Amino acid sequence: MKVLKLKKGKEESLDRFHPWVFSGALVDNQPDVDEGEVVGVETSSGRFIGTGHYQIGSIAVRILDFSDRKIDAEFFAERLGEAFAVRKALGLQRPDNTTYRLVHGEGDFLPGLVIDIYGPTAVVQAHSPGMHYCRDIIARCLVELKGAGIENVYYKSETTLPYKARLDPQNDYLIGGYVGNEALENGLKFNIDWLRGQKTGFFVDQRDNRALLQHYSKGRKVLNMFCYTGGFSVYALRGDARLVHSVDSSEKAITLTDANVALNFPGDARHRAYAEDAFKFLDKMEDGAYDLVILDPPAFAKHRSALRNALRGYQKLNFKAMEKLAPGSILFTFSCSQAVSREQFRLAVFSAAAQSGRKIRILHQLTQPADHPVNIYHPEGEYLKGLVLYVE
Ligand code: SAH
Repeated sequence: MKVLKLKKGKEESLDRFHPWVFSGALVDNQPDVDEGEVVGVETSSGRFIGTGHYQIGSIAVRILDFSDRKIDAEFFAERLGEAFAVRKALGLQRPDNTTYRLVHGEGDFLPGLVIDIYGPTAVVQAHSPGMHYCRDIIARCLVELKGAGIENVYYKSETTLPYKARLDPQNDYLIGGYVGNEALENGLKFNIDWLRGQKTGFFVDQRDNRALLQHYSKGRKVLNMFCYTGGFSVYALRGDARLVHSVDSSEKAITLTDANVALNFPGDARHRAYAEDAFKFLDKMEDGAYDLVILDPPAFAKHRSALRNALRGYQKLNFKAMEKLAPGSILFTFSCSQAVSREQFRLAVFSAAAQSGRKIRILHQLTQPADHPVNIYHPEGEYLKGLVLYVE
């Protein structure tokens, strides 16, 4: 294994187990390493720090282990075993719940790797060339993971790997094949489209927040904005909402939502879905048309550079909803942008509230669920932020 050297004093964050080595922290004169190669990292005085995957880019090495360690089947079996033990402790593998996140990158000490489980199928996403090269070992370890019941492994990294690495990944089954795509979340059925859908096909990260929404739904007129697969809508229907309207700009999302509603509540006249732009829909919306609204937009800031515009976007969106909510409404509002901090998001929502002039209380402060854990040494892993507001 080749060993890369840090500039003097650049080991500070690594000594606190932060798993990233930025390219600027490395001395210029390094051995020739290939993208995706397993490398060692040492301090300027030659103290060994850890083993990781090398990548061309601002994060040059993602540390996999803070020791001199072989990155082989034994390593992945151990890490996947630990990750699965956590999910078992969380009680997420149940007859009425067959979908959960098994691996959440740095949060599970596997930077560059995401794995979601849908019944007997695991959907694997590599975010680093190093993990791409390990995909077959990972797939084998997954089907050998005792008690997890994984029989099929679908690899889906066409859009998650750095384009410049020219790895040309194919989305395909590494093991097994298609055996159906119905998964259960808290007893509700969902068709998961990992072949064509966004991310791994489903936003597993809103499970707990959907359950909270159900609790508030009884007798309410619900608007699920940015509905994607209709997760929040199905929970609202189960919670005895008076009516549920789902909105997404993508026709495909509307088809998925209608199908998931039909799967759980066939022929239920309380639900309608609209393929429309969120801002246009809110502009046309009548005052008081809804008294429970969900705003779960895509990440407005994918990078730090887009931060200011993103914050303006959150403010505008929330203002448009707050302005027209019926008195006594509940608003679930989210941001999944990693670049936006909890404080910044709250400030954007605060600005929207002030602009609307309404009396607003914060009822809940929401985050990502426990199967999307945050590595305590890598606070950047906290990305999902939500507020539940009571609007008088
Ligand atoms: N709430 C969903 C996840 C939302 S993902 C869940 O629980 O699963 C974000 C969604 O916003 C995507 O489906 C995307 O198609 C939609 N979207 C993006 N821009 C939009 C816009 N301007 N208006 C309406 N929908 C939009």
